[in-house]
Order: sequence, then C-alpha cells, then structure tokens
Amino acid sequence: MNLNNDQLFQQHCYINGEWVSSITQQTVDVLNPYNQNCLGTVPNCGTRETEQAIQAAQEAFLMWRDVPARERADIMKRFAELMRQHREDLAKMITLECGKPIKEARAEVDYGASYLQWNAELAWHIQGESACLAQGRHMVTIKQPKGVVAIITPWNFPSAMLARTLAPALAAGCTVVAKPAEDTPYSALALAVLASEAGVPKGVFNVVTGEAATIGKALCQHFSVRHLTFTGSTKVGKLLMQQCAETVKTVSLELGGNAPFIVFADANVEEAVEGLLTAKFRNAGQTCVCANRIFIQEDIYTIFVEKLLKRVQSLMTGDGLLEDTQVTTLINQAAFNKVECLVQQAVDQGATVLAGGKAMPEIKWGYLPTILEGITADMAISQEEIFGPVLALQRFIDEADVITRANASRGGLAGYFFSQQIDRVWRVAKQLEVGMVGVNTGLISTPVAPFGGVKESGFGKAGADAIEELLDKKYINL
Ligand code: ADP
Repeated sequence: MNLNNDQLFQQHCYINGEWVSSITQQTVDVLNPYNQNCLGTVPNCGTRETEQAIQAAQEAFLMWRDVPARERADIMKRFAELMRQHREDLAKMITLECGKPIKEARAEVDYGASYLQWNAELAWHIQGESACLAQGRHMVTIKQPKGVVAIITPWNFPSAMLARTLAPALAAGCTVVAKPAEDTPYSALALAVLASEAGVPKGVFNVVTGEAATIGKALCQHFSVRHLTFTGSTKVGKLLMQQCAETVKTVSLELGGNAPFIVFADANVEEAVEGLLTAKFRNAGQTCVCANRIFIQEDIYTIFVEKLLKRVQSLMTGDGLLEDTQVTTLINQAAFNKVECLVQQAVDQGATVLAGGKAMPEIKWGYLPTILEGITADMAISQEEIFGPVLALQRFIDEADVITRANASRGGLAGYFFSQQIDRVWRVAKQLEVGMVGVNTGLISTPVAPFGGVKESGFGKAGADAIEELLDKKYINL
C-alpha cells in the first residue's frame, strides 16, 4: 500500500490482542475498486474464530468494566489523537479499499476520531439516580455496561462507521467483536493497531474477517454477546434482528434510507444546488443519507435545473488518489450493475437523461454523474436506494403534496429541504417521517447529534445517545 507506517496495513485478524490467521489458513482477496488490483488478503474466518473472539471479549469485559471512566476516556482520547496523527495513511487506505476520493477519506478519518473524542467525554457522565422512599428506604439506580457488543459495519465508511460504533461501547465499559465488510477490512484492522497503541487492553476490541453470514450468525447466536450494532442494508438488518431474538439481545440498526430532498420556490437556489451536490455525490452517492428522491417546486424548476446541470458537468472524475477528484468508482461490479439497471429502467419508463447516464469511460466500475428528469414514484429508482451518482428529479406543485410524496417510503433515515420561510421550515421539519432533517444544508452528520432512522431505516442511535443503549439501568432498593 506504500504507507508511511507499514504497521497499519495488517492482513490478519485481531483476536485477544494477537494477529491471527483463520483456523483453516484460508484467505480472501481484497481488491482496489478503482483498478481491480489485489491489495492483499485477509483470513477467511468462520464460527470457531468468532467464538474465540467472543470468549476473549467476555473475559476482558470482567476487567474493562471496572477500569475507572477517566482511564477509559484517556485511552480513547489517545486513540483519537493517533487516528489524526496517522490521517494520511488511514485516508489512503480508505481510498484504496473503498474507492472514495482522498479528500473525503481524510474527512472520514477526522469524523471517526471525533466519535472517540465525544464518547470519551461521555464516559465521565455515566450517572444514576437516587430517591429517598417514604419508609426510610433508598431507591438507587445505577448504569452498568451490558457486556460484549457485536459490531457489523458496511464498506462505505470503513473507518468511521467502526469508530462511531466502537466509541460508545468502549466508553460504556463494554468490549467488542467487530466484523468489517468483506470489501473493506483493512481500515478496521488499522484501527485495531491504533487501539492497541493507545492502550486498549487485549480482548477489549477484536476484529474478525471472513464469511459474513457465518460470522454474523455466530455473533447473533452466542449468549455472551448482549448487544448487536449493525450498519448496513435493511434486508440484512431484518435477518440479524430475527437471529438475535433467540438469545434476547438488544440491537441498534442503522439501515438503508430513501432520502427526500425538497427545494421550495422560496429557497436560495444557489445554496440549494450546492446542498444537493453535497448530499448526493459524496462517495459517488454511496451513503445511506444520500439524497435519493429530489423534488423541485414547479416555479423554480427551470432555473434550478439549469444551475444544477452546470455544476454537475463541472465535477471532476478520475482516480480517487488525485487531490482534485470529486467522483470516482463505485465499490464493485454488483453496485455498478445496480445503478446501470435503475437508470435504464427509468429511461425505459419515460425518464430523460440530462447529464451522464452511462459508465465512466476510463474506470471499470465508475458511473458518470447523472441527472434524470421525469421521474415518477412508481419507478424502481424512486423506491430503492440508488447508491450511485444519479440525481432523480421530480416536480411538485404544493407543500402538502410534496410532504405526502416524500413520506411515501418504508425508509425514514434522512430528509433535506431548502426554504427561507421560517414557518414552513418548522412545519415541514416536523412532518417529514425521518430520523434526521437537514434544513438548508446537505450535510448533517456529527457525533454530537443522535444519528439514526425511523420506520424500516432502523432504530437506536449512533452519536449522542448511543452510549445509553449499551448501558443497563439497575434499580437497587436499600
Ligand atoms: P450492502 O448491500 O451495502 O453491502 P450489507 O447489509 O450487505 O450492505 O452489508 C453490510 C454489512 O453486513 C457488511 O459487513 C456485510 O459483510 C454484512 N453482512 C452481509 N450479509 C450478512 C449476514 N447474512 N449476516 C451478517 N452480516 C452480513
């Protein structure tokens, strides 16, 4: 990978403080999505290695839960600092395995580190309550860490999604077995290197790579795992929730969205165009909070689309490692095929291509920044997460109509709208059936806010409230 610090590039799993192979010695290749070169291999682990990791995490839990909050916080702050120190290497690794442009990768490292920092502060504030009961007895509540937490992360933020879910667990006093996505294991393994350097004791944070369904099942079925945090597709989230029922674990699910992005006629058009670019083209449209259904009010439709077209045509495509690149490859062939198919179906059903609408000539899995107009609610492109750099435009006439259309989705993660009318801002923000609303902005993620969805986008929050989900409230009557 040609990093400044080669130690960050680990091709083994991290179990109980040791770098290990799979029991069968089998490995799987990891590809660079930009050029399909093999970056290296990782162990192809299964049930037994996962159980070893859970066992290690369970033993470490008995120690870690009693480490004073201040010490846990100090370790986590060192961990965050190390991420920032190694920003360039970690970012390069993200770009190489996930394909996103290097500037976005750097921002991802800082974003991930900020969750460690924020949760380190929260570790100090885990507090209970007490009350004096009438008959002279005291009622006390204390909060205690649940135990071993399983974390399954996606490939689109291979570093930050793990840092974000790991941080509240460490702060709460829980221990972790993480399974990164098969396309992007190296960023997770690099975090294990830094965790160890920061002083996270052995067994507290374990990373297992390999066959997703087998490892997932082992994590769900093991009794010692008391909570599962999953970030990924709605389909897999539903399966994991079912599997966790067997041992009555709690779960936090951050699943797919189908974000509406509404531009009202009273919006600042330039700002709305920029907000849309931010909300759509990050990671080539492959984020769960990406704008998916774009609604433009009739009165400003023409001027908005004119400005949007100019900006979309100016986006720089190319190698993600180059500083100027803004949109580059999708993660794999399946992702490319999906985007191509959704666009083709929409066109077959009457949509018009205003820009793009085809593959990038020089990048095998790259799809050009695309604008489609004439989109209707019955098209697959409106009903599914596109997960690609495609703007699917619809027109609307009045507020009530657009709210109904925006809410006509089983997903409810993020929603965005642009308006300068204060009464409308408040009204629409309340009416959108989503967990997070961006008003006059296309960027909403921050560790200090509760990040999560409603409806089939899941439940449980990352960020501000996540630590509470990893703590049990115990009542003592004394
Ligand atoms: P995407 O479609 O975005 O890849 P997935 O939900 O398939 O989303 O993947 C998110 C994470 O879930 C990845 O780490 C992947 O390996 C994991 N995963 C996929 N299938 C399963 C499964 N059956 N059990 C457990 N984890 C799974």
